[in-house]
Amino acid sequence: MRMVFLGPPGAGKGTQSARLVRDLSIPQISTGEMLRQAMADNSPLGDVAREYIRKGQLVPDGVILDMIRERLVKDDCEAGCIFDGFPRTVAQAQALDRLMRERGDRVSLVLELVVNPETLVERLQGRGREDDQIDVIRKRLQAYEDQTRPVADYYDRAGLLRSIDGLGQPDEVYARIRQAIAEI
Ligand code: AMP
Repeated sequence: MRMVFLGPPGAGKGTQSARLVRDLSIPQISTGEMLRQAMADNSPLGDVAREYIRKGQLVPDGVILDMIRERLVKDDCEAGCIFDGFPRTVAQAQALDRLMRERGDRVSLVLELVVNPETLVERLQGRGREDDQIDVIRKRLQAYEDQTRPVADYYDRAGLLRSIDGLGQPDEVYARIRQAIAEI
């Protein structure tokens, strides 16, 4: 199963996909986590990423796609994976489609966690990460609306999108996710 997890920052993608990793026994590919690791390592990739992340902007598609290509050839991804926070642009989604086709594979399901903006801001402010300052938060939410909302539309046209209400206790949200997976 190849699943894409979409949703604005603060929607709970990280929490929910960690549960799926455990229950489905497939790895999570989180481009945000990979970038944070690269920044912690002070690698050249991390230095590039930092400039964008600091400003609440998306890291360029080429950088992200190189990272994904490298990650997908690892053995643990063979049976499937959960893409968390990727693709964030339509260009990334199209590139992922091509990558999947080359491998005789495809995206099987796209889940979008839906949470209203006020709740997102509240949750993000409580989290305390470097990119969780209010002005940066607003830019990240705007980047989601401008660049990633069209990705949801792209998958909707392909009949792959399921929107999940992300409000409520994590257990309730998880039950909705399992329901959506059971329905495919
Ligand atoms: P996240 O933890 O997924 O919210 O990612 C943190 C930050 O990393 C984002 O605000 C972006 O600047 C960057 N980032 C993560 N994934 C991507 C991606 N697929 N495309 C572009 N930028 C990304």
